[in-house]
Amino acid sequence: MSPSESKVYFAGLSTESESTNFPTKIGLLFKHLKPETFISDGDLVAIKMHFGEPGSHAFIMPMYVQKIVKVVCELGGKPFLTDTNTLYKGPRQNAIDHLNTAMGHGFVPGVVDAPVIIADGLTGKDFARVKVDLKHISHAHIGSAVNLADVFIALSHPTGHIATGYAGALKNIGMGCGNRAGKQAMHADFKPEVKEKKCIGCGECARWCPAAAIVIVNKKARVSPDKCIGCGECVSSCNTGAISIEWDTPMELLQMKIVEYAYAVLKNKNNKIGFMNFLTNIVPDCDCLPYSDTALVGDIGILASCDPVALDQATVDLINAQPGNQASRMAKNGLAENEDKFRAVWDIDYTIQLKYAEEIGLGSRAYDLKTI
Ligand code: SF4
Ligand code: SF4
Repeated sequence: MSPSESKVYFAGLSTESESTNFPTKIGLLFKHLKPETFISDGDLVAIKMHFGEPGSHAFIMPMYVQKIVKVVCELGGKPFLTDTNTLYKGPRQNAIDHLNTAMGHGFVPGVVDAPVIIADGLTGKDFARVKVDLKHISHAHIGSAVNLADVFIALSHPTGHIATGYAGALKNIGMGCGNRAGKQAMHADFKPEVKEKKCIGCGECARWCPAAAIVIVNKKARVSPDKCIGCGECVSSCNTGAISIEWDTPMELLQMKIVEYAYAVLKNKNNKIGFMNFLTNIVPDCDCLPYSDTALVGDIGILASCDPVALDQATVDLINAQPGNQASRMAKNGLAENEDKFRAVWDIDYTIQLKYAEEIGLGSRAYDLKTI
């Protein structure tokens, strides 16, 4: 291992015994991060999750999370599972709906043995203003429970993503810990365009737009640029593909802002951090959508690292080394099975987030992969 390489630990899924089953491997893998070096007795330990959208099934299962909770508790830490409210209207837009969604997916104390705390409070206004003074963000708005925690652990489910191409640990940390205003600031450069020929005037986009920026005029959607906050919700709510987003510069900017937010989240943690990516159900869309499409590749395993950049780089490398699922959307787009799986679906250069994260010192893209 060269000095610049970060350690990334891998556990595959193959097993023929109880002692090496998937839940057991999760606990073992986490212990390879030497959590006793960054979790002390009495530490408040934020475990950043995504509890899934009702209708989706690809999110990380509660029984897996419990394995991490158990190790944290054995070390005297006080774990809580956490996420922030969404910018768009939906079943995770405030703490009540969000907690009900989490409970509906089994994130309850009897299963995960830890409480769920929505990091930015009842309505997304409970935040810490963190000074970063980076290229695009001077101050980040981070959910206060995340900011106050002594230790930060992110359990991420890598997927494709409509706006970033790939979403893994960096996105879970950056976008996932910003409060609603923070998320708005990260998205602010997107401007949607309506293709009138494809618009059937159904009004779904207007129904879901959180900024009331869309009206239907003569059976066609019309976006008011002054009101639009660039959240992208209209794109995913339109079933006819009538709304697209101008990707050029904004796509790069979004990734860089997400990375700057991740920097803000980790800034005060004094290396009391750990990250795991669950490479299972690797679907084309993120867990915010109310469905989970056919996976792009078969299930691979779990990765763990104290470096989120190395972790995401190893994740995309492992995924792209797999044969593509010819029953997936990737194949429907007419692309060969060995092409980059995320670019095959979204044609977005998602490596911007990895390169920029390395540039600002969040970690290294070089890694040494150890299989346990
Ligand atoms: S959801 Fe799509 S088709 Fe329906 S009104 Fe909006 S842009 Fe038009
Ligand atoms: S019009 Fe703008 S604010 Fe409304 S859903 Fe679309 S991107 Fe979001």
